[in-house]
Amino acid sequence: MQKIHMVDLHTQYLKIKPEIDQAIQEVIDSTAFINGQSVRDFCTDFADYLQVGHVIPCANGTDALQIALMALDLKPGDEVITVPFTFVATAEVIALLNLKPVFVDVDPHTFTMSVDQLEAAITAKTKCILPVHLYGQCSHMEPIMVIAEKHGIPVVEDNAQAIGAEYIDAGGSVTKGGTIGDFGCTSFFPSKNLGAYGDGGALYTNNADLAEKAQIICNHGSKIKYYNDWIGVNSRLDSIQAAVLRVKLRYLDKYISARQAAADYYDRQFREVDILEIPARASYSSHVFHQYTLKILHGRDQIHQDLIEKGIPSMIYYPVPLHLQKAYQGFGYKKGDFPVTEDLGEKVLSLPMHTELDQEQLSYITHQLIEILTVK
Ligand SMILES: *Cc1c(COP(=O)(O)O)cnc(C)c1O
Repeated sequence: MQKIHMVDLHTQYLKIKPEIDQAIQEVIDSTAFINGQSVRDFCTDFADYLQVGHVIPCANGTDALQIALMALDLKPGDEVITVPFTFVATAEVIALLNLKPVFVDVDPHTFTMSVDQLEAAITAKTKCILPVHLYGQCSHMEPIMVIAEKHGIPVVEDNAQAIGAEYIDAGGSVTKGGTIGDFGCTSFFPSKNLGAYGDGGALYTNNADLAEKAQIICNHGSKIKYYNDWIGVNSRLDSIQAAVLRVKLRYLDKYISARQAAADYYDRQFREVDILEIPARASYSSHVFHQYTLKILHGRDQIHQDLIEKGIPSMIYYPVPLHLQKAYQGFGYKKGDFPVTEDLGEKVLSLPMHTELDQEQLSYITHQLIEILTVK
């Protein structure tokens, strides 16, 4: 059996090596390393894939979030509502811009923003709602948009983990996650579902004015070279990464299907196991399984260790909720404020999930985990 990895980018690369190598070589031959043709071509293809009006490439997913908040003209002291159960980048950009992160707990099954608690968190200072499409599944966007529109608050979707996920509204129409709010933000970090061979990110929107503003902010706040109308940042997707992404975008749906097939297999094996809760599948979203995350009702940390001994890696995303992180103590939160998030921090365990898991590996992983649980 091949060694089991959390993510196997090497096997994935070998299968598309000629195309990737050629795409990279073309950029080198052109020496257009910054803002080359591959960046424009990728953005066109990506907009097409997402069925969205404008794609603004940038250097990473964290920058995408920061640029979105900057383009919305938020002012120091404004409040941004988000979740404490996410990667730190989501709250970090809020804090960096001297805005205030206001947390709303997550749903115990989908692990995304608990819509029931959203409206109570809105104040006169709320200037953005930032749901996170965690692990590959969209947040419940329709009720979020209803509340946001009622209060006139823009919405930014953190779609770093759910690129390609489809949102299904109550009427049955399907749109890509990230295209519902004012901005969708994503990351092309190598292990993400659409991963580059280095850093990369993008924002996308159907609003032409916001798109232009975000584009200008990415480029030092400058529309005409050396004339700076805003204070911006320097955040670019480089041409080599764009060339890689353009090749991989053609395989994205196939990659998503491979992840879903692995998840379906895990589900079938674990469905009847008492102490495990398999990932909830929301009626309003497809799940692209950036992570396959179990809730283990007892003894998670020991099971995590026991798996390592069997040669099976697993990860805890995320062990410390953001409201309890040392760096975020200044915002006045304390233990007990977000019980669902705190409980998940002690129970979640993500199993190996990538596009190259084979049947032998999947059955080894499931058998070993079930055996560990039975011995207990
Ligand atoms: C990965 C990730 C980011 C940040 O992306 P980078 O490209 O690493 O900056 C932001 N939010 C979430 C939820 C992520 O998973």
